[in-house]
Amino acid sequence: MSNSKKAIVIGSGIAGIASALRLSAKGYEVEVFEANAYLGGKLSLIELGNYRFDAGPSLFTMPHFVDELFRLFDKNPADYFQYVANEVACHYFFPDGTFLPFYTDKNQTVKMVENTLQIDGKPLLNHFKKSEFIYNKTHSIFLENSLHSLKTYFSKDIFSSVLALPFLDIFKTMNQSNELGLNHPKLVQIFNRYATYNGSNPYQAPGILNIIPHLEHGIGSFFPSKGMHSITTSLVQLATEMGVEFRLNSKVSEIVVEGKKVKGVKVNKEMFSADVVFCNSDIKPAYNHLLKSVPKPSKTLSQEPSSSAMIFYWGIKKSFPQLDLHNIFFSADYKHEFETIFNHAAVCDDPTVYVHVSSKIVKEDAPAGSENWFVMVNVPYNSGQDWETMRKVIRSSIIKKLNATLGENIESLIEEEDYLDPIRIEQRTSSFGGALYGASSNDRMAAFFRHPNFSKINGLYFVGGSVHPGGGIPLCLLSAKIATGFVK
Ligand SMILES: Cc1cc2nc3c(=O)[nH]c(=O)nc-3n(C[C@H](O)[C@H](O)[C@H](O)COP(=O)(O)OP(=O)(O)OC[C@H]3O[C@@H](n4cnc5c(N)ncnc54)[C@H](O)[C@@H]3O)c2cc1C
Repeated sequence: MSNSKKAIVIGSGIAGIASALRLSAKGYEVEVFEANAYLGGKLSLIELGNYRFDAGPSLFTMPHFVDELFRLFDKNPADYFQYVANEVACHYFFPDGTFLPFYTDKNQTVKMVENTLQIDGKPLLNHFKKSEFIYNKTHSIFLENSLHSLKTYFSKDIFSSVLALPFLDIFKTMNQSNELGLNHPKLVQIFNRYATYNGSNPYQAPGILNIIPHLEHGIGSFFPSKGMHSITTSLVQLATEMGVEFRLNSKVSEIVVEGKKVKGVKVNKEMFSADVVFCNSDIKPAYNHLLKSVPKPSKTLSQEPSSSAMIFYWGIKKSFPQLDLHNIFFSADYKHEFETIFNHAAVCDDPTVYVHVSSKIVKEDAPAGSENWFVMVNVPYNSGQDWETMRKVIRSSIIKKLNATLGENIESLIEEEDYLDPIRIEQRTSSFGGALYGASSNDRMAAFFRHPNFSKINGLYFVGGSVHPGGGIPLCLLSAKIATGFVK
């Protein structure tokens, strides 16, 4: 019998897998319980005929947080997981026919904007620099440490952050900050879009979220050579080699707590004991279903959920040279679009459409001469809307928009089709209302109200997109790093 301490991880989302690896590196014997018949949660796979699609995330930034998991075990990351740096961050298409290909290189983008929009590019360059400034002044405090630990507030980085406070645009909205800094409405729309990277509304969320552009245009935009799902498969391969056990079709029904100490979990009425339990389930179902006898953190649980998504996976029997890996087809009235989502829990007639084509890089994802289109529209989280009807309406709005911009009958080119909506996202990942990133960041104080990575129960930790530091792959990976930092 092994003498090592035992850790249980509930859920195999990216944060669950990263936690399992970090706990294993600390010498724990680790078992991961996953409700689904597959691993990865939102970072999973959909196959339709000869087409392959990543089910959820498509934008990949800060790959070094994946690499460092391999280095924990003195492995060469490239032996398991390869990725490429993208020269183009996104192709932006506007309703008036304007086309702006944003490069990851700031100077190249500024030149392109000067030529296309016939404006001075300096404000844009300064706005990129401001994003870098916000990143440099805040990432250590807000992203890489616990906001709920006193130690963070006695670190050397706190002084630099506090001195920078007046310049972080905390009291402006993202839109206000972008309107003040940029000299063209199209640039404001592009920078407002970054609020969607954590499911928020740029007309409400604070300007400090303008940290996000620096991730793409400073640190870089990347894509895994075998698609996003290879993040899951490569980390699972490493974890399996390190002795982590994955149990599929194993939904945890209770986190067992005695007094103030976690004892283990129950799965199908069977008790599994552990010294530490890491919960990678969304924080709302965790408190509502798994921890019924524990007092609930009401402020945290009552935060406004982030937006969700309606996605169509289309196998398209044609290739489109004007498309890149990431493409945005903007709506004419962005403010109305966000108001409809966040204030009316609905979707407007002319939504912004995101088309991601992984086969631009991963050639095996579609047959020759064809492309795998991941077509996504931001929608509200599920609060009982008629999604069946909404799906049909959204599908025809998308087709109308793409037909007009690309000059093709898109519907006639679709040879495979599936979809994901907030209901399916909730069913498949237990995310409350199908919200993509837990709570939105619309409230200026949202970061402080997210659940800490530790808890009042000894040995119980929380990781994943619904807790600190937030949703998105890099932040989920950081949640695992912060949480395991508290484990002896
Ligand atoms: C459509 C879409 C697009 C996105 N785009 C991007 C993007 O471009 N870039 C980006 O960085 N991020 C993106 N995200 C967000 C990103 O996918 C998430 O932040 C991240 O994958 C969440 O990981 P997680 O660790 O929180 O776990 P999740 O992926 O939410 O998985 C949780 C897992 O826990 C399991 N589970 C829950 N409860 C139990 C239980 N009781 N017992 C056992 N198992 C349980 C679930 O079955 C699930 O497998 C997107 C998300 C979606 C859905």
